[in-house]
Amino acid sequence: MRRSSSRSLSSVVALLFSFSVLFAGNDILTEILKSEATVTSFDPTLRIGIVQNVADLKVEGDAQMFGEDGRELGAIQGECRIAPAAGGKIAVCGTNYPGPSLTFAPKFSFMSVGGRMFRGKVEIVISGKGLTAVNALHIEEYVRGVINKEIMPGWHIEAKKAQAVLARTYAVHKKVMRPRTALYDLDPTVLDQVYGGLDKEDLTANKAVAETRGEILSYNDLPAEIYFHSTCGGRTASGKEVWGKEVPYLVPVKCDHCKNSSLYRWTRALSADEVSKKLAAAGYAVGKLKKVTVEKGDLRVAAVIVNGKRIEVNQFRKAVGYTTVYSNDFTVTLSGGKLTFSGKGFGHGVGACQYGMAGMAQAGKNWREILQHYLPGAEIRKMY
Ligand SMILES: [Zn+2]
Repeated sequence: MRRSSSRSLSSVVALLFSFSVLFAGNDILTEILKSEATVTSFDPTLRIGIVQNVADLKVEGDAQMFGEDGRELGAIQGECRIAPAAGGKIAVCGTNYPGPSLTFAPKFSFMSVGGRMFRGKVEIVISGKGLTAVNALHIEEYVRGVINKEIMPGWHIEAKKAQAVLARTYAVHKKVMRPRTALYDLDPTVLDQVYGGLDKEDLTANKAVAETRGEILSYNDLPAEIYFHSTCGGRTASGKEVWGKEVPYLVPVKCDHCKNSSLYRWTRALSADEVSKKLAAAGYAVGKLKKVTVEKGDLRVAAVIVNGKRIEVNQFRKAVGYTTVYSNDFTVTLSGGKLTFSGKGFGHGVGACQYGMAGMAQAGKNWREILQHYLPGAEIRKMY
């Protein structure tokens, strides 16, 4: 397996950017060095843990099969069950092959794993509780599979391009930061970015990815640590205020563009008893609600004080429900046995506001202007 590729990616990203800085005055030399670094050592392959720790797995396709050492062991055609076998082997369509991993390379660029289609290669690895399937594919192909999961398919192409750059940046950052021993770089769920595979692509999303090929946000020659959320409600939040992350480009910016979001302003009421139960279930035994107030941070709510007990706002939202208390910017009133939340926006508020990106695109801004607005100070760089 090729788990050392993260290190080479990180160093090449840094190297590539250093070249640009060093030779800023010499365009031809910069181009030569860039192209050499790109061609000879840049590895834009991502590894996604598409199925994790299952007892067995169905794959379907027309694919060659390779062993741990890269030797070709045979091929599969059609549907096939894969399961761990005695002696550290892996059974494929009833025949045992040496473990701990097998790699399948589809002949027609994609294959089905657990009923979903994926581009690129699929590696099946014996893992803690059975098998894990890792989809290894080019970052560009991965980004095509995530952007429609993260944004509304009907949005303007420039908003989709901005989202493509965010998704690419996120993936490169995660790959660089992952422990070198990790089986894969990214989870296919909300833990990282929701990755739908081939089934989730569409033509404008693919166009947005192609037209921003290789573009990421960077800071100090490394991939930027980016965040995005649905709706900021008028002003984004700093990374410092929300998570204690002091990052120079995760700073509050004004946003006049997310008013189309149905959660730009919102009100939700719950019975006080229900909130009390939810808090108790999350380990905050506050009893019958008597007094509920909010403690303000710099701009948003830092904590909710329930009967004198301080509950940090992220914990409070998690306990009561992220789709009840939509954001960390709200007021609360307790009256007549009801707790009423009135708030602004949806999500943590840090980084790019997605409805705002759509609004800016609609107003004629391009993806570069959009990203520079929400992540001021992060640079847009082309990796390859
Ligand atoms: Zn906004």
